[in-house]
Amino acid sequence: MKIILLGAPGAGKGTVAKQLTQLDGSVQISTGDILRGAVQAGSELGKEAKGYMDRGDLVPDSLIMGIMEARLQEDDCEKGFLLDGFPRTIPQAEALTELLAKLDISLDMVVNIDVPRDVIFDRLCTRRTCENTKCQAIYNVKSMPPKKEGICDKCGSPIVQRADETQEAIAHRLDTYNEKTAPLAGFYEKKGLLKTITGTSSDAVVNGIKKELGI
Ligand code: ADP
Ligand code: ZN
Repeated sequence: MKIILLGAPGAGKGTVAKQLTQLDGSVQISTGDILRGAVQAGSELGKEAKGYMDRGDLVPDSLIMGIMEARLQEDDCEKGFLLDGFPRTIPQAEALTELLAKLDISLDMVVNIDVPRDVIFDRLCTRRTCENTKCQAIYNVKSMPPKKEGICDKCGSPIVQRADETQEAIAHRLDTYNEKTAPLAGFYEKKGLLKTITGTSSDAVVNGIKKELGI
C-alpha cells in the first residue's frame, strides 16, 4: 500500500504505520525518526535540523525534500510505504506530487487521523520514546508503560521524554500543526484522495484503513 498518514502530533500516526507494515511488508517512513537519527549521529543534516526540532518548529522544506527524494528511491519502497509525518506543509505536498509523478508512483489514499486536541495534549505529555535510534519504540507512562520502568521492552535501552515534549514545545507543535499542516486535508480532499478516520484507538484506525483498501 502507498499511503500518507496525516494527523496532529500524537494522533497515533507512528503506531498505526507500524501496524500497517505487518500487513503487506510496506515500509514506514517517518521523517521525524530519520531526523532524530541524524541528530544523534551528529551528521550535517542533524546539526541543521536540531534547533528547529527542539523548539517544536518545522525543519525547512528543502532539507525534508532532499531526504524524501532519496528515501523513496530505495529498494524497500517497492512493496509500498506509509508516510508518517510527511508532507507537513503545502509546499512539501506540492513537491511530493511532482516527485511521485517523476518516479511514476501513485498513492492509494491519504488518511487523516482525527483526534481531539485535549486527548492529544495529554498523550504527548505522557509519551516516552526509546532512545536507541534504531528502535525508537513508543511507550506511554499511563496507558502503555514498559515492563520494567524506564527500559525499552524491545531493545533494553533507556526510554526518555523527547526534547520537544515539554509542555511549552508541545503547545507550539500543535499550533504549528494547525497553521501549516491541517490545510493538507483540503489539499488532498480536492484530489479525491482523502479519507478522514476519527478514532482514539490505533486498532480502530487500522481497521478503517483495511476496510477502505478491501483487505
Ligand atoms: P510529531 O509528529 O510527534 O510532532 P515527528 O517525529 O513527526 O513528531 O517530528 C518531530 C520534529 O521533526 C518536528 O517537530 C519537526 O521539527 C521535524 N519534522 C519531522 N517531519 C517534518 C517535515 N515533514 N517537515 C518539517 N519538519 C519535520
Ligand atoms: Zn528500544
